[in-house]
Amino acid sequence: MARQIEQYVPEQFLELVKDISKRATERGQRVYLVGGIVRDMLLGYPNFDIDLVVEGDAVKLAQNVAETSQVRLLVHHRFGTAKLKYDNVTLDLATARKETYKRPGALPTVTPGTLKDDLIRRDFSINAMGISLAANDYGELFDPYNGESDLERQLIRILHPESFSDDATRILRGVCYEQRFGFEFEAKTAQLLKRDIPMLDTLSGDRIRHELEHIFEERRPELVIKRLGELGVLTRISSSFKGDGWIAEKFDRARGLKKPAQLPTLYFCLLIYSLSETKIEQFLARLNMPAKLSRAMRDTLRLKASLPLMDKSSLKPSEIYYLLRDYEPLAVQANAIASESVVVHDRLQLFLKKMRHVRTSLDGEELKGLGISAGPEMGKVLRILHRAKLDGEVKTREDEEKLAISLRAGDVNSEPEHLRD
Ligand code: ATP
Ligand code: MG
Repeated sequence: MARQIEQYVPEQFLELVKDISKRATERGQRVYLVGGIVRDMLLGYPNFDIDLVVEGDAVKLAQNVAETSQVRLLVHHRFGTAKLKYDNVTLDLATARKETYKRPGALPTVTPGTLKDDLIRRDFSINAMGISLAANDYGELFDPYNGESDLERQLIRILHPESFSDDATRILRGVCYEQRFGFEFEAKTAQLLKRDIPMLDTLSGDRIRHELEHIFEERRPELVIKRLGELGVLTRISSSFKGDGWIAEKFDRARGLKKPAQLPTLYFCLLIYSLSETKIEQFLARLNMPAKLSRAMRDTLRLKASLPLMDKSSLKPSEIYYLLRDYEPLAVQANAIASESVVVHDRLQLFLKKMRHVRTSLDGEELKGLGISAGPEMGKVLRILHRAKLDGEVKTREDEEKLAISLRAGDVNSEPEHLRD
């Protein structure tokens, strides 16, 4: 595959990779491209996550590279892995390893091994291929488990019968590849996947959550969620998850609205939209969900419960603002996407796009200049100005000045109680 490597791997990587391989040869080590990049190279899909496996000590090799190049080195001694961070690219090096599982779901025990050992510990045959980068057999494909043939037959196949029970994240990963590539599970793999769904219970919350986050980076994660629903994987994670057509439609809408960085959180908020308060707490605990993400999800359901207030015929903009301002913006966004009411949708969008960015033209200093004293009076005047601005009652700076002056003279206690901070 020498020619494919030259065509496929971007120039800036290629030079670095060749330099690493040359040093490896000098040290009596061998380096291979492995995993996703090999699979995607054979499929003709772009992938610039370069994973290298070293037969020999990858950490020492990476240290050798770092001694003479402008590169930041990050080392994980326990796993025998190293990251080389160049200005604009990162390379991952791993010592070829053998793994054994003490118990299902646990992290494996690791000892050094050959490329073949390293490939058999992988999730699926299509991810268990390596390409040599050594000078004497540069470009040779190592495919001891027939991954290339499975790629051709469009099959997802595990490498041994206990694969899913050793590590049930592979159930989630497998469905992800199945949907991404439009492949099928090989018959025996499909059977074992179904058998081992209960093994999801052996996984830590962090591991399940990471796989869901991985799924949420897919181009169309709803396909994966739907399939996980059909297979009974979702209900194993939380008993009232559905993953039906509703999710597909909402995920699709979410993509039209949000920047990629915020999408995963929004997907999580939509995923839990039909859960009850008790179920969501169980789900957050099960996935050991971080505080910020938990808040967005809880807010989503809290706001969902008070959406009827948002559907009333007459609401002033300022009233909408005060009803929504305490929720995480992504929770508001999730409800805008999820709500079946056009009125609610438009109001929530208006809040997100306009209202929450509205500021008074006058600041505290300027109000002081108008004779308003710092402290509670100032707070009230600012709130009244802000509301008036939201409601279009003041438009210009001069309008605000006039209103502020009238408030100074007039009765600021007329501020309705429910709108106070
Ligand atoms: P993607 O395109 O989704 O990133 P990838 O193949 O690069 O696909 P990663 O999650 O980046 O997937 O993992 C890199 C490689 O590590 C995989 O190709 C696979 O060989 C191996 N791997 C990852 N997770 C597991 C696992 N749970 N069990 C076995 N092997 C795994
Ligand atoms: Mg990858």
